[in-house]
Amino acid sequence: MIYLDNAATTKIDEKALDVYNYFSKVDFFNPSAVYATKNSICLKEARQAISKKLGFEDLDNVIFTASATEANNLAFSCASNDFVISNGEHPSVYDMAMHIKETKRVSFCPLSKNGEIDYEELEKILTPDTKFISVMHVSNETGAINDLEKINSIRNKICPHALLHVDGVQAFCKIDFNMKKSGVDLYTISGHKIGAPKGIGALIFKNKNKLKPIIFGGGQEFNLRSGTENLPAIMSLKYVVETRKPDPNYIKSLKNVLLNELTDKDIKINCEGGSPYILSLSFIGVRGETYVSMLHDRGVLVSTGSACSSKKKGNRILTNMGYKEDRIISSVRVSFFETNTVEEVSQAGKIMLNTYHELKEKMNVQ
Ligand code: PLP
Repeated sequence: MIYLDNAATTKIDEKALDVYNYFSKVDFFNPSAVYATKNSICLKEARQAISKKLGFEDLDNVIFTASATEANNLAFSCASNDFVISNGEHPSVYDMAMHIKETKRVSFCPLSKNGEIDYEELEKILTPDTKFISVMHVSNETGAINDLEKINSIRNKICPHALLHVDGVQAFCKIDFNMKKSGVDLYTISGHKIGAPKGIGALIFKNKNKLKPIIFGGGQEFNLRSGTENLPAIMSLKYVVETRKPDPNYIKSLKNVLLNELTDKDIKINCEGGSPYILSLSFIGVRGETYVSMLHDRGVLVSTGSACSSKKKGNRILTNMGYKEDRIISSVRVSFFETNTVEEVSQAGKIMLNTYHELKEKMNVQ
């Protein structure tokens, strides 16, 4: 199997799994127990490691959650009305916004042709009353990278008191980002996109005073997210954050290896110049789902879009970028990680091209 769906999830790193096992089998105490001093110190150190990765020094500004989905939902608790999000958001932001739209003022900002938020439109949509803005750092569908500095300066010009939340799931530990120096107030991350386990996410904040709990109980996580801390997953994430060496140049070379194999003018790149980790392509004339399922049978795992959206019809992101039906229905997402090798990517490219030609021919005969 050649796994090229790393934006959906990554295989856990072997050593991160050892850490997970250690904190499940050996140092397994509940960090809130009186005798578990070591575990509660570990928890603090994990917070600090993540803080540090984002440019902070020694701050307790991390809330651990069970997923990025939960962290994104929690971020919305900061405001009671006047939300602005981009049309390119992951369902954990977009569907949350659709949900609260029934009772609150929510505006949606269009995307530009290159997949980034449309900055001019954002300037028109924000008002002095806007309280909360949510945009993603890197698109999970296309790899487009939003210019957070630009968004911050637009926010500062129009609604300086509005909080800026950024879903950093596809960017964290992949592209350098100093949250402390940026205008970002809240940042969401997820473990399983970077070789840490599933079931661990976090919301990093500059000021927790505006956050309100969405889960009630034992008062863990500054009384904002009750529930026994998942220390095995937290420590495993800490290990990855401290040891991971992202290699975007290597990933770029993998992307080029694949593109060099895909020599057909009907294969289109949907987003140029974004994150090298994600490549959105359209294979004109075939249906994405049929193609992806044939590739699966031949040992290449890619997806038609984000795993979270795979049950939803169409592709909201490509539609928003202004693409026509033929490009949308034939779209496929390929996503890389440092664990991929040049040889397997080259092999995957050959299989992808042959399968495309076969399927196209079949479609033409019918
Ligand atoms: N945000 C983005 C951009 C994602 O890509 C994903 C996962 O696909 C999520 C949020 C949700 O992450 P989790 O699986 O940790 O809930």
